[in-house]
Amino acid sequence: MSRVAVVGAGTMGNGIAHVFAQHGWDTALIDVAPGLLERVLAVIRANLERQVKKGTVSAEQRDAALARIRTSPSLDAVQEVELVVEAATEQPETKFKIFREVDRLAPPTAILASNTSSISITAIAAQTKRPRQVIGMHFMNPVPVMQLVEVVRGMETTDETAVQVVEVVKALGKTPVVVNDAPGFVSNRVLMPMINEAICCVMEGVATPEAVDTVMRLGMNHPLGPLALADLIGLDVCLAILEVLQRDFGDDKYRPAPLLRKMVAAGRLGRKTGRGFYVYRD
Ligand code: NAD
Repeated sequence: MSRVAVVGAGTMGNGIAHVFAQHGWDTALIDVAPGLLERVLAVIRANLERQVKKGTVSAEQRDAALARIRTSPSLDAVQEVELVVEAATEQPETKFKIFREVDRLAPPTAILASNTSSISITAIAAQTKRPRQVIGMHFMNPVPVMQLVEVVRGMETTDETAVQVVEVVKALGKTPVVVNDAPGFVSNRVLMPMINEAICCVMEGVATPEAVDTVMRLGMNHPLGPLALADLIGLDVCLAILEVLQRDFGDDKYRPAPLLRKMVAAGRLGRKTGRGFYVYRD
């Protein structure tokens, strides 16, 4: 395989396109947001530039990677590819519609992957006529930096599809971990309750955000405290994932902390709005 289309060019999509292009893939990057595609190549260039400065990528490799990316506002760009990685907005209806369209347009042998954080891969696959070739490729943020890709097998995903995707992840220089489809997969099922408990500690006056994060960094050797991590992920994203866990397991142990709801309602979403548990000046 050497041709990929990435659907959605936001935070995750531009990082996913960056990594594929850097590893020699002919990469189509698709988004419908007006004006975004004009800006996205500059974002990828700046991120590649950072790698050049660090000495992990040469100037020639940077230019070759950029030359392999073409942008498109239309899903027609999936017609020639062997793999589609969907990284569009985390809304079931948005993803279902994209998968129905992509299924119609992409070659019948193409594998269709989703980067969803919480939507059922089995449900996404059921939108297509090729559920055996649908799988989760859950990249972590920031994509060019993070090692893990959680490979999520839906109920109908075949061994052959899973094996091919594992090979792709390895060829991107990352480490695949194969898990089965379940709410939150492994990553968010384990991470989000920890973040939620950290928020409860702040809400109940047990400790300040700085104190909670310091306990987890110095005591548990986490590189980032759970509240700083929540700010990085986006508090709206954390809330949405906890709501999926609570609903799909039918278990109130995943109930989002009222303080999390209040902060999202106030627009304190973390780094992206300049304020969450911490204040960000840049
Ligand atoms: P984002 O909002 O930054 O980007 C989503 C992009 O999808 C937007 O640019 C939007 O215009 C585009 N889009 C929406 N509908 C589209 C359509 N029909 N066709 C083409 N493009 C469309 O979101 P993000 O943070 O990059 O998240 C994308 C996916 O990755 C989500 O499923 C999310 O759960 C998952 N994810 C996010 C993170 C994270 O830390 N942000 C980590 C892992 C996985």
